[in-house]
Amino acid sequence: ASLYKIDGWGVPYFSVNSSGNISVRPHGAETLHHQEIDLMKVVKKASEPKSSGGLGLQFPLIVRFPDVLRHRVESLQAAFDFAIHSQGYDSHYQGVYPVKCNQDRFVVEDIVEFGSPFRFGLEAGSKPELLLAMSCLCKGNPEAFLICNGYKDSEYISLALIARKLHLNTVIVIEQEEELDLVIENSRKLSVRPVIGVRAKLRTKHSGHFGATSGERGKFGLTTTQILRLVSKLEQVGMLDCLQLLHFHIGSQIPSTLLLADGVGEAAQIYCELVRLGAGLQVIDIGGGLGIDYDGSRSSDSDISVGYGLEEYAATVVQSIRYACDRKFVNHPVICSESGRAIVSHHSVLIFEAVSATASSTPTISSLGPGLQYLVDGLTDEARMDYRNLTAAAVRGEYETCLLYADQLKQRCIQQFKEGSVGLEHLASVDGLCDFVAKAIGMSESVRTYHVNLSLFTSIPDFWAIEQLFPIVPIHRLDQRPGVRGILSDLTCDSDGKVDKFIGGESSLPLHELGGEEGGHGGGGYYLGMFLGGAYEEALGGLHNLFGGPSVVRVSQSDGPHSFAVTRAVPGPSCGDVLRAMQHEPELMFEALKHRAEECGGHEDEMACAELARGLARSFHNMPYLITAASCATANNN
Ligand code: PLP
Repeated sequence: ASLYKIDGWGVPYFSVNSSGNISVRPHGAETLHHQEIDLMKVVKKASEPKSSGGLGLQFPLIVRFPDVLRHRVESLQAAFDFAIHSQGYDSHYQGVYPVKCNQDRFVVEDIVEFGSPFRFGLEAGSKPELLLAMSCLCKGNPEAFLICNGYKDSEYISLALIARKLHLNTVIVIEQEEELDLVIENSRKLSVRPVIGVRAKLRTKHSGHFGATSGERGKFGLTTTQILRLVSKLEQVGMLDCLQLLHFHIGSQIPSTLLLADGVGEAAQIYCELVRLGAGLQVIDIGGGLGIDYDGSRSSDSDISVGYGLEEYAATVVQSIRYACDRKFVNHPVICSESGRAIVSHHSVLIFEAVSATASSTPTISSLGPGLQYLVDGLTDEARMDYRNLTAAAVRGEYETCLLYADQLKQRCIQQFKEGSVGLEHLASVDGLCDFVAKAIGMSESVRTYHVNLSLFTSIPDFWAIEQLFPIVPIHRLDQRPGVRGILSDLTCDSDGKVDKFIGGESSLPLHELGGEEGGHGGGGYYLGMFLGGAYEEALGGLHNLFGGPSVVRVSQSDGPHSFAVTRAVPGPSCGDVLRAMQHEPELMFEALKHRAEECGGHEDEMACAELARGLARSFHNMPYLITAASCATANNN
């Protein structure tokens, strides 16, 4: 576990059990021993064919834990409740979940249900997000906020006003000055009194990767001048009482409480000023930014870690608002936050299989192919001189010089190969010799490439786009010392499709030899998990090479024999599905190919044609990923 820093980033949900498998504690530290879930048992249940009592799902696989979601929502609420109580703050915390972090229906429905006792709401940033938030909140607490952010046209605004008519506690946040006229106009048309928020562009700047949205040049929000214009326009039309919420967002992954206090403090001053100007303010919405410690280092100098926990975050927010309001004799506002990453990151694990690995790059003299003498005999005079110089330098112990001659020899042989004077076998021997020399001198670390049954572009898009790191760990065999270091190479035909940076600043990952667990769980495959990827990754992922999303299982803690129950199982998109997403028509394609098979197989018998058609149908039906030895039974049986 320490090799993979699980004790840092995994706390309190992930650890290693006595079988060497990753164990999930769905209720965090409060999880009792018998409630812990062995992740390999879930993988086995999900991947075994239906005929053997499994769910017949293909990899990659997302395992969702709704109990973790519940624990996150409740922990966030508890952290604010504690800060409010202990600091004598005179109002309450009422958060919302920004659905853009993961719009999966069951994720959103779970959050609404788990947050209902404390009026937890939703945030939307587009029309479809608003539609889903409206529909989910119909089953939620009527006081829960529905915060409408993002660019808005007349249709978005009238939809938000309709939501208010449906008695949903909707707030339209003005992010661009032009939106105000549309709100005034549409609310008159629909005869509804809107609740308006305004997003302020703060001067506080978050300098980390996720801070581009902050500062005076940020993409969203109103400047001080624009806010003053908005106030005077609302006053003119007799709607200043409608301005009830002040919003800001200084970026995701706020690294330190120092920066947080700075931003919240600035916003609290604006809040007090707006109260002084007569607005009907009641709520301060501090946006997102509550960070996740992806590498467990608790560092405030890194994009992938944060130097605080939920409690310190809540305490800082409450203290900064209270301080500003008390000095200006302003009533304490309701505190709303739009924490997405912090709520959904932990709840899902992406599991994928390593299907093969490059051979050990520990070269031996046998990697020189037919032998040294053969190699030397085939060299031209100049190359033979390089070889002699190389061996002489080796005898003298001048290793740098060895490398120099080895490289010279190699370049010379490549040139001669291009000219046609050296054969393929000789070129391979020279490559082998150079690898051998580099290894003997300790210059080439033996890092192997593990080929994984995954598309990085679909499942870990932020690694490709912004080099965001996530913990990646084998989910079993953790009681065996990994003997190899490797990088991961995905299925796409794209050289970017590889993971060669890992948490802790590592350029390779400790891994086990493949095939080391004959007959083990999951049919002997080697399974890796990508953790803390429950936010953003699913919605951002694309269809590069037409690899679609993973299969998904939803796993709840239960008191049954395995301590878990699968409450939902959905196969990932099939080849037919991903083709359809690109406007192809799989049914017509199948018919055309079947017809062709019948034509081509004119001389064959009907049975052979039917077999071809079945093969075609299976390919449309199965997922685009590799069918490996471990998943073969499932793919053929479903
Ligand atoms: N609110 C707004 C306006 C955002 O732009 C974002 C994301 O950047 C969030 C909330 C969610 O932020 P986080 O995931 O850091 O909680």
